[in-house]
Amino acid sequence: MGKTQKKNSKGRLDRYYYLAKEKGYRARSSFKIIQINEKYGHFLEKSKVVIDLCAAPGSWCQVASKLCPVNSLIIGVDIVPMKPMPNVITFQSDITTEDCRSKLRGYMKTWKADTVLHDGAPNVGLGWVQDAFTQSQLTLQALKLAVENLVVNGTFVTKIFRSKDYNKLIWVFQQLFEKVEATKPPASRNVSAEIFVVCKGFKAPKRLDPRLLDPKEVFEELPDGQQNMESKIYNPEKKVRKRQGYEEGDNLLYHETSILDFVRTEDPISMLGEMNKFTIDENDHEWKILKKLKQTTDEFRSCIEDLKVLGKKDFKMILRWRKIAREILGIEVKDDAKTEIEVVPLTEEEQIEKDLQGLQEKQRLNVKRERRRKNEMKQKELQRMQMNMITPTDIGIEAASLGKESLFNLKTAEKTGILNDLAKGKKRMIFTDDELAKDNDIYIDENIMIKDKDSAADADDLESELNAMYSDYKTRRSERDAKILVENREEEDRAVLSPTCNTAT
Ligand code: SAM
Repeated sequence: MGKTQKKNSKGRLDRYYYLAKEKGYRARSSFKIIQINEKYGHFLEKSKVVIDLCAAPGSWCQVASKLCPVNSLIIGVDIVPMKPMPNVITFQSDITTEDCRSKLRGYMKTWKADTVLHDGAPNVGLGWVQDAFTQSQLTLQALKLAVENLVVNGTFVTKIFRSKDYNKLIWVFQQLFEKVEATKPPASRNVSAEIFVVCKGFKAPKRLDPRLLDPKEVFEELPDGQQNMESKIYNPEKKVRKRQGYEEGDNLLYHETSILDFVRTEDPISMLGEMNKFTIDENDHEWKILKKLKQTTDEFRSCIEDLKVLGKKDFKMILRWRKIAREILGIEVKDDAKTEIEVVPLTEEEQIEKDLQGLQEKQRLNVKRERRRKNEMKQKELQRMQMNMITPTDIGIEAASLGKESLFNLKTAEKTGILNDLAKGKKRMIFTDDELAKDNDIYIDENIMIKDKDSAADADDLESELNAMYSDYKTRRSERDAKILVENREEEDRAVLSPTCNTAT
């Protein structure tokens, strides 16, 4: 996968990269803080003292120096050296050390910071669980420095990765700030698990419970679990097939599938947890029916564009939409309709018609199954080829070249109008296991209709069902998100312009 990305490096240099170059910023991530500042009331324009933790190569400092009032004090610190820049004090130190703390105190004298920024990301190298832990620790350390240096009502902006520590960190922020909001600025790539949290209105408590900033207390269960988790993920012998066909160790960054697959799946929660996006084929006749639903709103369309940033409300909305879509397409029969079907006997002609339809459906499924089987064989062959085990004999050129497409080239593909083709190709590349699993769904489809009838009463209680589904979804999503951290760091690492910034944004 790494190779594939490198090959497509052109596609990865997006407009923010070129814009940063044009504007003289040292990294594309400058636009993240510009967008956050714009969204949250232009706090930089009101900040006379700014501390930028983990600042190299220095693009956030550059933005601060541009936007803060003249003669503001801007201090940037990083574990790696930074090229000097006008109007900014920079020094080299590890933000987790006493050295950094005291140097900072030296520069701050009696001042207090209006804003503390933190865009830190530790070096990649260890397994993802270890990385996730270190990332969360770094965020907590940054918060510690913010607490020591912020003025009452001050602002703290920090990067945070979706991991199982996410909610714990948010809770800690909420104890210390009036308003805490997570945001994903447009300059942060969708494939990246990073989120930024903007904490406004520092409460500056007179007494602080030390446990609030103690990693052992905040992330208590992590240290012992690390080794096991890692070996579970990376040990191929222990792979476990899940319902949707995903396996432990599937570390692909970006997954998408058709919205109609989501309508048909019997395990929508798994799918919501695993996918980044649901794609739409505007020419599909079933979609043509579904898009006329009043529930197919612009909001719905934008929600399915990036499933990883959705909240509970959006999640429920999508599941409700699916339920209606299933009824419209006849996959799920409405309760009252079911009753009708059960009491009205079919005429002989209707019975024949029904049998015929059943037969046709069986044939259709057989063809589909056979096609999937062939696809799977091709996929296996392709994988072996990619590992230099065979030469490309039986694999179509189209499939092979689609395999070379970057998973992250969607924007370009969208622009050039080949997104639909690409999506289909990617689907084939990425979702082999998924498709296999859907095959299983096909086998059990007929039974499911019966099962649906049996559980008709349960279907009414949508609200509690959705609540349970949502917590299930959240668990799955956070498990998966942690897995993609390593990929995310590598990707962000390459996006930073200066060689001095050796970690991800
Ligand atoms: N905001 C910066 C910009 O726009 O130029 C980019 C920051 S870069 C994504 C992340 C930085 O975190 C790296 O430069 C890395 O050296 C720094 N870092 C990681 N761990 C650190 C630590 N313990 N102390 C200080 N800096 C650290």
